[in-house]
Amino acid sequence: MKITRYGEPCPLCRTPLLLGVLQVRSAQSDFPTAERVTRRRCPGCQTTRPEQWTEAMRDGYGDA
Ligand SMILES: [Zn+2]
Repeated sequence: MKITRYGEPCPLCRTPLLLGVLQVRSAQSDFPTAERVTRRRCPGCQTTRPEQWTEAMRDGYGDA
């Protein structure tokens, strides 16, 4: 299942990033067994400075 949560501060404006998190559950357990961050968003920076945002994501995470 996918959830959204706040993550580490944005490298540009220090607002907590919105993380899209994919939770993997095993058949035997109701608890998530693994998590994978599928995307990171900062609505402010993506709107006001998309080029800097793209660069920051590429530098910081390599997955812009
Ligand atoms: Zn930001």
